[in-house]
Amino acid sequence: MTERLYYADSFLTDFDAVVTDIQELSRSSGQSLWRVALDRSAFYPTSGGQPYDTGNLIATARSGAELTADVIGVEEDQQGEVWHHTAKPLAAGTQVRGVVDAARRLDHMQQHSGQHLLSAAFIQICGARTVSFHLGDIASTIDVTADRLTDATLDAVEELANRIIAEDRPVTVSVVPRAHAETLLAAGELRKLPPREGDLRIVEIADFDRNACGGTHVRSAGQIGGLYLRGLEKVHQGQRVEFVCGLRAMRAARRDFRRLTQAAGQLSVGLEELPQAIQRIQADAKQAAKHTLRLTNELAQYHAAELVAQTPVQAGQRWVRLQLTAASQTDTAYAKLLASKVTAQAEKTIALIGWQPTAADDPATIVLARSRDLTIDCGTLLRETVSTHGGRGGGSKDMAQGSVPAEKLETVLQTLTDACQKSVSAE
Ligand SMILES: [Zn+2]
Repeated sequence: MTERLYYADSFLTDFDAVVTDIQELSRSSGQSLWRVALDRSAFYPTSGGQPYDTGNLIATARSGAELTADVIGVEEDQQGEVWHHTAKPLAAGTQVRGVVDAARRLDHMQQHSGQHLLSAAFIQICGARTVSFHLGDIASTIDVTADRLTDATLDAVEELANRIIAEDRPVTVSVVPRAHAETLLAAGELRKLPPREGDLRIVEIADFDRNACGGTHVRSAGQIGGLYLRGLEKVHQGQRVEFVCGLRAMRAARRDFRRLTQAAGQLSVGLEELPQAIQRIQADAKQAAKHTLRLTNELAQYHAAELVAQTPVQAGQRWVRLQLTAASQTDTAYAKLLASKVTAQAEKTIALIGWQPTAADDPATIVLARSRDLTIDCGTLLRETVSTHGGRGGGSKDMAQGSVPAEKLETVLQTLTDACQKSVSAE
C-alpha cells in the first residue's frame, strides 16, 4: 500500500520513492498508457471533490541519463493503492524522484481549504449544511441545504470567511480513533464524519471548524488568500454556491470588473448606473417592439388594400399572387399577416404568397388564404401539394402555411394555383 506523504505534509512536492507495480491501462495507435504504483507518494489522487496532482517521475539510469515520465493523472483504487498515470513505463524496483506541480497543488489546497471555511461559515450564519463539493478548473461549487439565500446572507457568509482568513488562524491535522470522532460528532464539535472505519484524520481551523477529511490543506487560513462568492443557482437539493479562493479570486474579480466596465462603457454610463441603464434599454426595446407591431399591422393593411385595388375580379375570382423575399425586410409572419388582410378586405379572393429566404439552405414559405365567401379547403390543398414536393405544412380551410425547399418555390406556387383553380371551378 502506498504511504501517502501528503497526509503528514501537504507542502511536500519533491520526494524519493521506489516503483512497486506497473500495469498497462490502455493502448491506442501503438501508444500505451501506464499506471505506476510507488512505495510512497506525495501525489494526491482524485477524491473528495479535489482533483489529482500532476508532475513528473524521474528515474536515473546507471549511465547517469535521466528518464522523465510526466504524471498526467492520479487515482486510488478500492484497496487504497495510489496509481500514477504516465505515457512512459517504469519497471518495478526502479528508484524515482517524484516532483509534484506545486502551483497546481497550492491552488487546489486554497480552493479545498476554502471550502471547509465556507461550509462552516454557512452553518454559522444560516444553518445551511453542505451536501456536495466540486472543485472545477475555473470555479468551485458547494451545494447547501437552503431554499433561498438572500444577498444579505451571502454577504455575511463571505465576510465571516474572509475575517477568519485575515486572522490567519492555524489549520491543523490530527489523527483520532473513530470512537473519539463519533463522540466529537455527537457533541456537535465535528461538522462531518465519513462512513469509513479505522482512524480518522481531523482537520481543524482553530476555534472555527473541525471536519474529518483526507485531503490536502493549507497550514493557516491566511494561505487561502481570500474567498469570493460569485454565483448562486437553485438545484434539486438546495442552492449551488460558486466560489473562488486565492489567486483565482483575484483573477475572477479582475475579469468580472473588466466585463462590467466594458458593458458600462458601451452604454456610456458609470458602473453604478449599469443596472438602471439596462432597465431603461429593456423598457425602450419593449416599447419599440410594440410600436413596430402596430406599424407592421398598418403597413400590411395598406399593402393589402393596394394589392386588392390592383387585382380585379376575373371570372368570379380575385387572385392575389405575390412573392416576397427576406431581402425586402419581410419575414414569414408578414407573409401570413398580408394574406389574412387581403382575404379579409375583399370578396371572392384567393391570396397565394411565396416567401424566399436569403440563405439557400433555408426553406421557402408558402401561405394560401381565401375569403370567407369561397369554400375551397386551403389546408388540404396546401398540404397535398407541398408534401409531393418534399415540403410540409397545413392549416385550416381558410388559411394554410407550409414550407418547401427554396429551389422548388416557383414550381410549387404554380402547381398550387392550378389545384386551387380546379377546386374553385368545381364549387
Ligand atoms: Zn479537507
